[in-house]
Amino acid sequence: MKATPSVSKMQRVRVLLPLPLAGAYDYRIPPELDIRPGDFVSVPLNHRSMIGVAWDASEAPEAKPVAEHRLKPVAGILPAPAMTASLRRFIDWVAAYTLSPPGAVLRMAMGSTAALEPPSQQAGWMLAGPGSNAQPRLTPERQRVLAAMRPGEVYAGAPLAEAAGVSPGVLRGMADNGMIRPALLPHANRFTRPDPDHPGPQLGGAQAAAAASLVAKVAARRFGVTLLTGVTGSGKTEVYLDAVAEALRQGRQSLVLLPEIALSAQWLDRFKARFGVSPALWHSEVTPRTRRETWRAVAAGDAPVVVGARSALFLPFPDLGLVVVDEEHETAFKQEEGVVYNARDMAVVRARMAAAACVLVSATPSLESLTNAESGRYEALDLPVRYGGATLPAVETVDLRRTPPERGRFLSPPLIEAVNATLARGEQAMLFLNRRGYAPLTLCRHCGHRMRCPNCTAWLVEHRARRQLQCHHCGHTEAPPAECPECGSANSLVAVGPGVERVLEEAIALWPEARRLVMASDTLPGPAAAGVAAQSIQDRAVDLIIGTQIVAKGWHFPHLTLVGVVDADLGLAGGDLRAAERTVQLLHQVAGRAGRAEAPGRVLLQSFSPEHPVMQALISGDLGAFMQEEAAIRRPGHWPPFGRLAALIVSSEDEREAERTARDLGLAAPGGEGVQVLGPAPAPLALLRGRHRRRLLLKTRRDIAVQPILRDWLARVAVPNSVRVQVDVDPVSFL
Ligand code: ADP
Ligand code: ZN
Ligand code: ZN
Repeated sequence: MKATPSVSKMQRVRVLLPLPLAGAYDYRIPPELDIRPGDFVSVPLNHRSMIGVAWDASEAPEAKPVAEHRLKPVAGILPAPAMTASLRRFIDWVAAYTLSPPGAVLRMAMGSTAALEPPSQQAGWMLAGPGSNAQPRLTPERQRVLAAMRPGEVYAGAPLAEAAGVSPGVLRGMADNGMIRPALLPHANRFTRPDPDHPGPQLGGAQAAAAASLVAKVAARRFGVTLLTGVTGSGKTEVYLDAVAEALRQGRQSLVLLPEIALSAQWLDRFKARFGVSPALWHSEVTPRTRRETWRAVAAGDAPVVVGARSALFLPFPDLGLVVVDEEHETAFKQEEGVVYNARDMAVVRARMAAAACVLVSATPSLESLTNAESGRYEALDLPVRYGGATLPAVETVDLRRTPPERGRFLSPPLIEAVNATLARGEQAMLFLNRRGYAPLTLCRHCGHRMRCPNCTAWLVEHRARRQLQCHHCGHTEAPPAECPECGSANSLVAVGPGVERVLEEAIALWPEARRLVMASDTLPGPAAAGVAAQSIQDRAVDLIIGTQIVAKGWHFPHLTLVGVVDADLGLAGGDLRAAERTVQLLHQVAGRAGRAEAPGRVLLQSFSPEHPVMQALISGDLGAFMQEEAAIRRPGHWPPFGRLAALIVSSEDEREAERTARDLGLAAPGGEGVQVLGPAPAPLALLRGRHRRRLLLKTRRDIAVQPILRDWLARVAVPNSVRVQVDVDPVSFL
């Protein structure tokens, strides 16, 4: 007997909606619906219908309780797999940690609303079967169609017509005559299960030991974090793919996060070589249709391995067994817009909530992860040598004070000499400069006027090939003026400093015969272009590569033996906490592209301060010692990872409003033992996209959580509507 719920026992459910301003809202559960936490439901909101997720009763305290009789009913449950408890807890956790509205985090986890609707099925054809008493004319064409079909199977129209060599009209005619009938095509799962036992490479020595250790961790089906380090080219990827294989054997899903999936063509080839099939891909450039299908396949457990950018953390894995973060030191894992979070750190949390193994991978691990390994929170595995007997490249500096380039040039004689010798041997050389465009500054020779962005505190970068001056912060472009906009002098504007385009110009003059390739984000738009470029380097269709930080990204270029860093000092300017650490990481990664096969590699760093600890660390290759010195510098002042930081960025189109709110926040600043507020101060980018910006920095001891302090602080200051206060917990950018 089924009891009808009486009005007094009417049930309510808390529904989280994917809106940046909403907490969870209460709705009435109509008697005919059986709603459980995690169900995707459609509910009315302001006369519209919205999709949300039934949230657990105890969480996300209600903004204002609504009287029972005023509750609106849930309209229905969507036919999608319910969101798992572990993903719901993860969403709550990320929201609380980053001080974001839970609804804004939920939005990242919903894929698209289309993914929640039942998949549209396509129609095909099947044999009409014995029940049909059709007596139609059997033309040769129709016979061919019947011969191509087996009873009980559904065939898509176009391929069937093609296989039988007939036009689609023939199929329709046969249907009219009752010989075949329309039927729905079964849902093809486009993500074939990778074969864990597909023959992979034979792992040797330290590789085999590290792989065995990771496999055991996955097999244990428990949470734990491993930091997998090892020199560039030591086989870290092959080792963690063994952990993926174990997750497959366990029947659990794996997630591999890569910092820039668009640059991962080679990685995908390797995956395919290891497992025989491609993994599911998740990043901002996948088409809406693939997005929808991938989301559903992940939710249904049909996508055993997903490779993605940071947003893949929010996919609805029903049984996640392994999370890998490759190149864990990369700042690209930090999302700076909307919900501001670090995917590397959140990956660890996601793994913990799913009882999955987590592996952080890098040749140049972050001080954060190294410190966690040292304290025993993470287990450490290291691959000390390059695979196949390849040696690490020899790193030298070129002292630009002693052997400067010719006036107006950027390549010094020793570097030119080294490129000459490399090209003469038929090997490949690379020139690295982490700056797009032709020149970072355009200056008037007469009055000293500098071409600036009207919207940002930034110079305009000349892109000569496109005949444009461009702001790299807001995208503003303008044509290079014929005369100085300040003093009106003609032909007085000069390019100052180099970008890759200018290095290319120099290279064309020096090595006109060499086959050159420029690799920069604006010359290689999209994954396909980067893949083609990498392939042409591998195929030796290129002699000289000129590139920005794109070339540092894990590529395997077996014929590359010389890397020249045009401006090794570039990243060291500015007051960024991690400037030295990042420069070492970037330049070591670039250097690591050289000498990955039989021929040894050589790296030349052009620098005005070869005695700098960063250059010395790169020369000695002892990054461990360098990181220990970094730790010694940061520890006493409680700088991360030995203390906690959170930034408040106050911005407004109205400078006075920004200034006033920043001052109010400064006056209300928290204090006390182990708590310190720095600022307010104008941000280095004091103007960005037309908004005036001020920064405050909260610094606490490691044992003091910043979130309650921030919540309390923000609650005490009234922020006008025209002002935005962005919270950035664990900031990596200080602009
Ligand atoms: P890392 O990720 O540490 O930079 P990779 O995994 O990219 O190193 O390995 C470098 C190169 O050596 C790749 O081409 C890889 O396929 C190859 N390699 C590594 N280990 C092995 C192995 N055991 N057998 C065959 N090839 C290997
Ligand atoms: Zn001028
Ligand atoms: Zn700008």
